[in-house]
Amino acid sequence: MAILESTAGSRAADAPAITRFAPSPTGDVHLGNVRTALFNLLLARRSGGRFLLRIEDTDTERSRDDYRERQLEDLRWLGFEWDAGPGREDERGPYRQSQRTPLYERYFGELAAAGAVYPCFCSALELEVSRKAQLASGRPPRYAGTCRDLSPAQQASRRAQGIAPALRFRVPPGERVDFVDLVRGPQSVLTDDIGDFIVRRADGAAAFFFSNAVDDACMGVTHVLRGEDHLANTPRQLLILRQLALVPPRYGHVSLLLDPAGAPLSKRQGAVSLRDYRAQGYLAAAIVNYLFRLGHSSAEHGLLSLEEMARAFAPEHLGRAPAHFDEQQLHMWQKEAVRRLTPDEARRWLSGVLPARLDEPLLAAFLEAVLPNVERPLDAKPWVDVVFGEPPELDAAARGFVGEAGRGYFAAAVSGAEASGNDLKAIAGAIRAATGRKGAALYMPLRAALTGRAEGPELAPLLKAMLPASVRARLARFA
Ligand code: GLU
Repeated sequence: MAILESTAGSRAADAPAITRFAPSPTGDVHLGNVRTALFNLLLARRSGGRFLLRIEDTDTERSRDDYRERQLEDLRWLGFEWDAGPGREDERGPYRQSQRTPLYERYFGELAAAGAVYPCFCSALELEVSRKAQLASGRPPRYAGTCRDLSPAQQASRRAQGIAPALRFRVPPGERVDFVDLVRGPQSVLTDDIGDFIVRRADGAAAFFFSNAVDDACMGVTHVLRGEDHLANTPRQLLILRQLALVPPRYGHVSLLLDPAGAPLSKRQGAVSLRDYRAQGYLAAAIVNYLFRLGHSSAEHGLLSLEEMARAFAPEHLGRAPAHFDEQQLHMWQKEAVRRLTPDEARRWLSGVLPARLDEPLLAAFLEAVLPNVERPLDAKPWVDVVFGEPPELDAAARGFVGEAGRGYFAAAVSGAEASGNDLKAIAGAIRAATGRKGAALYMPLRAALTGRAEGPELAPLLKAMLPASVRARLARFA
């Protein structure tokens, strides 16, 4: 029995890892893809290796240029710099599979010369009928071998009928494919359980199993972290690489990202695409920090940079259990990331909701007051209106506080504001001197009159964000 062990496994554990992210441009990047890309990036960075980006666009019907561009843009936004890939070609490229046909043809030729592949003329309908028949008799469906032993004459007659054949890999019977998965440990599959599979489709395009495996080997990829849904593909890919005498990478299959209902996150569900989160104002640091923890245990608790994550990343800490995406956790990381924004970053982040021209000190005070309380720019919008707009209408609770305080309270507040501008301490001091109020009785009516609400961000910086004339006008309404 042949033992197939990934030879890359014997490389020193701390040798520089060459990893890659290999998206198919058939939709927008979703959070599951981001997580896979992140783990591969970190694996390369922690060992001083290289992170490659390869576009898997052999499926010309489903692949689209605009999706490719959007995927690249999303990766840049995340800060996932690739060492080689589109826009950064090197001698191992091109990094788009649709441009690698000559390489694939060479290897198809090698497989054919070795008798490791054969043309398959079965139609989609024939395959479907055979599949159903196997299922009906309780057997796992696999290729029945219809075209496996066609004579040259039979093949010629099919071709003469104008049927374009696919190319199938002849899986050797009676062997075991063994490999050690980086996440899931030792795996062993009987070749008799693997049907002959297609490596080149009837339209001439390389099939996923083939191009993905050949490219990893030709690009010198040493480690592949990818979704668990590819685990069953790995034995086939190892068989192809062995046949071609190419060195396989070590594969690690990470658990899938599930939604709260336990279904896999899918890019067909709009809400999980990275762009949806970006559009709402989620920050790359928040998304990446959350995904870093999702299914990967780490002792590091704070918000980490990619460099810090790379140092803390350990593939052996990747869990085998499905990872449940919990939006509350993302909110927590987002709050943390918002708190860390520099004033310039915060100004950019809030640019869609801030007034066009704003003096620096007013903006600084606004950010100090409001940033600790918001998760998305949209959450800051009401406070932009309260602080920079017309004196706000009072809600019911605020009306209660203002009514209870009475005119004398506000007369004192106005004189405090006239003397001090927008300084909370001075205004409160004037009220206290006139009314003897303290604590909530002193501050709540002020908050209510200035903001129209009984709760909200810290009052002192909020006041500093308002122009003194606006503060006076708001208070004078009730004096
Ligand atoms: N293009 C494949 C996918 O998007 C890549 C799988 C892999 O990482 O090997 O699922």
